[in-house]
Amino acid sequence: IFDRVKEAPPDPILSISAAYRADPSPKKVNLGVGAYRTDDGSPYVLPIVKHFEQQFANDPSTTHEYLPQDGFTNFNYHSARLILGHDSSALKEERVVTVQALSGTGALRIGFAFIANFIGNRLVYIPNPTWSNHRNVVPQAGLPPTKNYRYFEPNTRAVDIEGLLQDLSIAIEGSIVIFHGCAHNPTGADPSKADWQRILKVVKSKKLVPFFDNAYQGFASGNLDTDAWSTRLFVESGIDMFVAQSYAKNMGMYGERVGALNVILSSSGPVTAVKSQLKQLIRAMYSNPPLHGARIAAAIMSDKESFRQWEMELEKMSARIQTMRLRLRDALNKNGAPGNWDHIVNQIGMFSFTGLTSQQVAFMRDKYHIYMTSNGRVSMAGLTESTVDYVADAIKDAVES
Ligand code: PMP
Repeated sequence: IFDRVKEAPPDPILSISAAYRADPSPKKVNLGVGAYRTDDGSPYVLPIVKHFEQQFANDPSTTHEYLPQDGFTNFNYHSARLILGHDSSALKEERVVTVQALSGTGALRIGFAFIANFIGNRLVYIPNPTWSNHRNVVPQAGLPPTKNYRYFEPNTRAVDIEGLLQDLSIAIEGSIVIFHGCAHNPTGADPSKADWQRILKVVKSKKLVPFFDNAYQGFASGNLDTDAWSTRLFVESGIDMFVAQSYAKNMGMYGERVGALNVILSSSGPVTAVKSQLKQLIRAMYSNPPLHGARIAAAIMSDKESFRQWEMELEKMSARIQTMRLRLRDALNKNGAPGNWDHIVNQIGMFSFTGLTSQQVAFMRDKYHIYMTSNGRVSMAGLTESTVDYVADAIKDAVES
């Protein structure tokens, strides 16, 4: 029965970590996967996360009972408020259904499964380029293969807003459109506030259904509210839409799979039906989500002082990334690498879309043991004071070769 199974191609992002791990060179640098590292290159557990982890471990009343299908109630409550804002009219009007999800990917997966099952066989538009997994999740959920909309102009290294608007204005009415709420992956280029207003206009006129993917709230600007601006603009317009959240990056709980899917309805009537069907989908997929990370995230978000501490830790992480942007740009200017490298400091979020070609990326991997995705995306969080000059010199060599 397995004879017809063909080997799947390696995942373009996860396969980089595997190649990095297998490389015995002491000089190796992993700039592939988007995970925060401290300045000595180590993974980072946020002190506030550690605090609650220890508190729960030492509390004799802590149990490991099942959660309901839609997850930890207190987590869902605070998660919706984190992204939509405490003053959200959709929350006040009880037009939001929030379910805990297996991080951002799981939120997308449930959302698209819901769309496939209950909204219909709609086309899903994704930005070009985008996080590669969008292209996997949508058809896996039973929808047709994704379609691209223009997003990035390599010459200006900025959002191709006119191309984007044109493509959405000829999209089939009622289609789903994935937007990155902030810190677009991989380009690090986001639409301006004025651009978002124009996008919203087209979305409304074409009756498109936005699906906001928020994997970096707090990582673009260092401020959780600022980074929720685009999502809130769309939600406040009163349309039907979907909002995915991930706590992988902003709480550093990558492996705990903490996330949420928010379904925003234009009217509260179908709320109970939507919630019941989401629970039913979850029941059939994995029954109920994991407790550990959601319990910690809920504890952080429901206590003012802990929330403040989290905000300070987020600021610290994004400040280190910003420092690395400046250090890399300055090192490239200093070593005379041909070209203008200002985009490295202008882009936001965890990544820099360097403009390196796939050949140059391969050159850096083979000669310098520096790993990044073949589209030239560098995880700035993977750079440290002790590797930045080495990486800059490798880039110069690659560009000149
Ligand atoms: N969306 C985007 C745009 C991402 O970059 C990521 C993480 N790389 C995710 C979703 C989901 O990540 P996770 O499932 O780990 O939360």
